Amino acid sequence: MTKMLYLEDSYLKTCTAVITAVQGTVITLDKTLFYPVGGGQACDTGTLLANNTLYKVISVQKVSGEIYHQVDREGLDVGDQVTCTLNWDRRHRLMRSHTAAHLLAGLLSKHLGAQITGNQLEPDKSRMDFSLETYSPEAFSNTFREANKLIKENIPVKVSTLTKEEALQDTTLFKLANKQYIEHLQDVRVVDIVGVDRQADGGTHVKSLGEIGLLVMGKLDNKGKNNRRIYFSVSP
Ligand SMILES: [Zn+2]
Repeated sequence: MTKMLYLEDSYLKTCTAVITAVQGTVITLDKTLFYPVGGGQACDTGTLLANNTLYKVISVQKVSGEIYHQVDREGLDVGDQVTCTLNWDRRHRLMRSHTAAHLLAGLLSKHLGAQITGNQLEPDKSRMDFSLETYSPEAFSNTFREANKLIKENIPVKVSTLTKEEALQDTTLFKLANKQYIEHLQDVRVVDIVGVDRQADGGTHVKSLGEIGLLVMGKLDNKGKNNRRIYFSVSP
């Protein structure tokens, strides 16, 4: 299985790796810094350099624990050593959006009792779905105001790993309404915005809230009884 370097260090921008399988333009590596689409977060893009040729990484998927990199053309072989480089601007925006989603989830749950049902995190515009019976528009403006205050305070974001047994003692770690994924977990990676939100998560995040910059509230939609959707973005 591919070693996922982004889980240990989400700030790693380049690494060398060895190709373990090639199928047309889809390759696997012994280790990678490319985050595959998953957990609501869009995938990374970037480049692979091998034998003085640059290959673009167009999309990245994870299937049964293996990470598949789609490149823009053929020519790579098993055993080739490659230099991987992330499109860091894109990744950093995703890290900022993803951390902002945790911050919002924590505040919406604490103040309104909302339960998150899904999210889609993109570099430019993200959205979060949650269930909530009644609310006032002011409650959302207040939530974003509080979020931006916490961002200014630059609260640290800490990542740690618990055993499944340890993690199950705190069921609040598992924020998504659908909890089926829990039974497949082994060790549980926990992302902690200290004092604000703590949840089990395999995505990439910033080290402290200040990196998010300004969190901007977008449209609030009703997707049916109790089902709400809020759009947000990070700037600049
Ligand atoms: Zn996360």
